[in-house]
Amino acid sequence: MHPFSFTKAANTREALDAGRRGGRYIAGGTTLVDLMRETVERPETLVDISDLPLHEVTVTERGGLRIGALVSMAETAAHPKVRALFPVISEALELSASAQLRNMATIGGNIMQRTRCTYFRDVTADCNKRDPGSGCAALHGFNRSHAILGTSDDCVATHPSDVAVAFAALEATVHLLGPDGERRAPFADFLLRPGNTPDREQALRRGELITAVEIPALPRPLKSGYLKVRDRQSYEFALTSAAVALHVRGGVIREARVAAGGVGTVPWKLPAVERHLIGERPSEDLWAAAAEKAAEGARPLENNRFKVELLKRTVERQLRIVGGTK
Ligand code: SF4
Repeated sequence: MHPFSFTKAANTREALDAGRRGGRYIAGGTTLVDLMRETVERPETLVDISDLPLHEVTVTERGGLRIGALVSMAETAAHPKVRALFPVISEALELSASAQLRNMATIGGNIMQRTRCTYFRDVTADCNKRDPGSGCAALHGFNRSHAILGTSDDCVATHPSDVAVAFAALEATVHLLGPDGERRAPFADFLLRPGNTPDREQALRRGELITAVEIPALPRPLKSGYLKVRDRQSYEFALTSAAVALHVRGGVIREARVAAGGVGTVPWKLPAVERHLIGERPSEDLWAAAAEKAAEGARPLENNRFKVELLKRTVERQLRIVGGTK
């Protein structure tokens, strides 16, 4: 591990001052400390923000949710309002990491976590994300776990978060605070596809920190849930996953929110699937036909062609679980 200095921010002003000077924010530290041990990350200054007042989950005026950036994954998953209003969030969190990690890791840190591409974590391998311009060892290496959507010639790594897939499906908003004040970013714009700058992963300005994630109100009744497919039953990242939320009234699907994980360089919203569902009556044929659209535009690599079919089956299965069949 490289030498670094450590400071604990007593309030938001202290945090932003340190962030403006190039300090890296840390709270749970479950990703960043690992990467520092492996010398993938070499921050000069860490700024502990865990005392900032960002620890609350609240219901918004319209019936959405605002989740403070420092609420732990475990607290968020267990929160009665999260469970009642958006079970897809609780399910995604409970299928993530381990109980110990969920107790430490925060919602803000979860979104900010970096890829699990093994070449990224191997400092002897070429990796444009870790070392811009060095190449991408995964392109012609062992790329079974890598992305099939949103890739570029410079990077094919997946975003590893489960709850970010739920946030993408629900069209969340990220609340940010920086030296220039507060702003909001649609979740879809916050996490960046690699393009030719895979080292730039979030639309963050210098010194900005995440203060909350807001989930918009959706028409009720709303059923939602998360399905994760992986090589082993626990403590494993997704090969594919699907977050689904459906509002069905009078036997017709009025609203549909669908996104996939484990397949995209960012959590992958599936608007073609959503469009296929809206205005239709739930049926086995509908789930299958909608899921056929899940892999549109996919560019599989040598070792992950199986993900195309697996993605469609994951989406179909989760549509059936959430939507039932009449
Ligand atoms: Fe690095 Fe991305 Fe290539 Fe992995 S896929 S080696 S993270 S550039």
